[in-house]
Parts: sequence; C-alpha cells; structure tokens
Amino acid sequence: MIFVDKGPCPQEIQEDIDAQKAKDGWDEIPEIPNAEQAKRLREEFFDALDKTRIRTELLKRQHGLCVYCMTRVENDSDSAVIEHWYPLSKSKQRALQYANLFVSCRGGEDRDANGHRRVLCCDAKKEDSIIQLDPLNKDMMDNIVYYSDGRIDIAESYGTRIVRNQLRQNLQNHLGLNGKILNDGSIISDTETEIVKGRRDAFKEERDLIEELEQMGELTQERIDEEIHNLLSQNPRESFVGVKLFVLSQTL
Ligand SMILES: [Zn+2]
Repeated sequence: MIFVDKGPCPQEIQEDIDAQKAKDGWDEIPEIPNAEQAKRLREEFFDALDKTRIRTELLKRQHGLCVYCMTRVENDSDSAVIEHWYPLSKSKQRALQYANLFVSCRGGEDRDANGHRRVLCCDAKKEDSIIQLDPLNKDMMDNIVYYSDGRIDIAESYGTRIVRNQLRQNLQNHLGLNGKILNDGSIISDTETEIVKGRRDAFKEERDLIEELEQMGELTQERIDEEIHNLLSQNPRESFVGVKLFVLSQTL
C-alpha cells in the first residue's frame, strides 16, 4: 500500500454527488441502512453517478495502481472497481463521499477458478469490513514494511501493540494481501493475482540494483534519491512500486 495524495473533490464530481442527494428518496434512507435500503442506496444513488469520471480522477491520484495491492489497473469497469473504504452498507453519507472512494483491482474474482477455490484480495476480499488501514494517512502508509519473501506488514515501531494487531488483521484477513495464511502468519498460498510473488520480485529487483551500484562504487545518497524520484515520477507507476521505495528507504 502507498499513500494517496487525494486533494479536494473536483467540482464536477461534487455537483454530480449533490444532484444525487437532491433526488427523491435520499432523505428516506437512514444513516445506517438495512440490507434493502443499502441496495437502494447503491443502485439508485451511487450507481447513478458518473463512474467513469470518478474512476478517471481517482486513478490519476493513485497513479494507475490498485489502492491496496499496488497492481496496475486499467481505467475500465472490467479491470477496476470503485471501492468504498468505509462500507456503503454502513454509512449513507460516506456512500457518496469522494474522500471515501478509491479504485481497487478486482482482486482475482474475475479470474477463472478452474474448479479450485480462489484466494481473493483487495475489494473482493474486503466486502463489508470496516478497516483502520488508511491510504490517506501518510504516517501510517510510511510505516508499511515489506520482506524479501514478499510479505507485507506494519512496522514494529508503529503505534501500540493493539493498533499494530488491528492493522495486521486488516492486511491479512480483511484485504488478503499475504494470500492464504496459517494462524502463525506463514503464507501457504499466494493470491489468484500473485501479489506476494509480485512483491517478492520487486524486492529482489531493487536489491539487485543496489548491489550492482555498490559494486560499481556508485551507491550514494544522491543516486538513491534519484531512483526514488524516478519511481515516483512514473505515470502510471509500475506495479508494486511501494516495495521498491521501501527497499530504497532502507538503504544507506
Ligand atoms: Zn488490488
């Protein structure tokens, strides 16, 4: 995961949202809807928004990557889904709140299962869970760590033990970012979309680059800063860019 610098809601999107909220029926839905009301909220109000416009804007802010797993997504509804960070079924206001919307990949649910049970991630895994892992919280996102085996985790120095446990639960159980795991945290199967392998490969690629620079006597802070700058300037950014940025941040 990587920090999303979202900025304010663009005016055209806000006008679209305001127009939906002015429609008949909005006031009848309570802040915390029941299942039937949540269905109405989605179909009559949220689905009536100009999704292409919202997805385009969000993807620009997310540099073309899934907000959770950092895989590259295309700007179409086959590849990407507009995801409610705080579940639509649990808050009417946040169902149509720009700050609450992100683009997620399809998490493997679009893949052919071939008769086996798919290991899902991201939006497909999260469903209606409320999570604390917040892509708008820069300090929290800067404390996401990666290991050479592809695992994603939260830094041991971040927050209290209770907070860390909660965030680990989010990463593993609610978002499925470490694939299928045992109770002790060991990974037994990657996700359908192979994100553990993707992060492992990105980690190794960046490690190899650093080693190479070191051997050539070119490993300087300046060179590292340049590499960080290059990775952040890509548009769209490459999949798993956060892993490479992490490896670089740990160098020198
Ligand atoms: Zn994803």
